Amino acid sequence: MAGVHGAEFEGIVGMVNLISVIETGKDLRGKEWSEISAVAAQLDRLILIPIVNPDGRIRVPLRMEEYRGTDHTVAEYLNTGGKPDGTITGWPQVKEFIPFDFTSGNFPGGYPNDAGINIQHDDFFGKRQPETQALFNLTERERPDLILNMHTGATYMIIHRPFIEPALNPALEQLFRCVQTGLALHGLQNTNDPKIEGDPGRAPLSVFNLDGALNLHCGALSVVVESPCHGYSMKNSNGDAAMHTPEMLLDAQLICHQEAMKFLVETGGRSGWTPGRKP
Ligand SMILES: [Zn+2]
Repeated sequence: MAGVHGAEFEGIVGMVNLISVIETGKDLRGKEWSEISAVAAQLDRLILIPIVNPDGRIRVPLRMEEYRGTDHTVAEYLNTGGKPDGTITGWPQVKEFIPFDFTSGNFPGGYPNDAGINIQHDDFFGKRQPETQALFNLTERERPDLILNMHTGATYMIIHRPFIEPALNPALEQLFRCVQTGLALHGLQNTNDPKIEGDPGRAPLSVFNLDGALNLHCGALSVVVESPCHGYSMKNSNGDAAMHTPEMLLDAQLICHQEAMKFLVETGGRSGWTPGRKP
């Protein structure tokens, strides 16, 4: 799923291109992805939700931002909102304003839905938003093994370590190794060294949020994947701008989907990750 945050476009673009690959064998640039076609055919079922938060997406009616080097202010304003004078609310300060007050005169950004709620941080055990409830109903019905929750906001693409059942940690770490190694071998990480980039110790630790809630709700391994942004670059460990062209951003999305699907086929899903105790 993508577009939980309406101004984070990379995951949406990746998913629309993934649909094209599955339907035609080629992404929307005409590039072939034979491994994706082969591995997708081995999955029982694949469910794609290109935009979880259409309210937030409509609020930021852009198809693409201008690239602004290391200046992230415009992207941050579109994401987290701000005051009419351009003062940015910022992250994580934006989490102080849930629900967002639409009478404030401030711009809400793409995070919340039209009820002012950031779905990633909904009231999961209380009054859930319709978008969250739809995800709960869908995952209850489908019982997915793996959920990829595609976001934007990293120097290089990275999977976060979610708040999940500890029994799923080995599977999370194997998924991390698969995806991050695939990205490193395609020049889409800080180094091309799979040992460094595939080390699960690098995974940033998430707080309890939508992914933890989905895991506790249906048992899925649900992870946030953060992409770099097409509108600006963050600085890498050398202090250099980690520039990603749109081509690289799309490649990263499709490699992530490809490696995650391969991981799923090779490991057999949830029942293989946490075998029950023998009677
Ligand atoms: Zn996000």
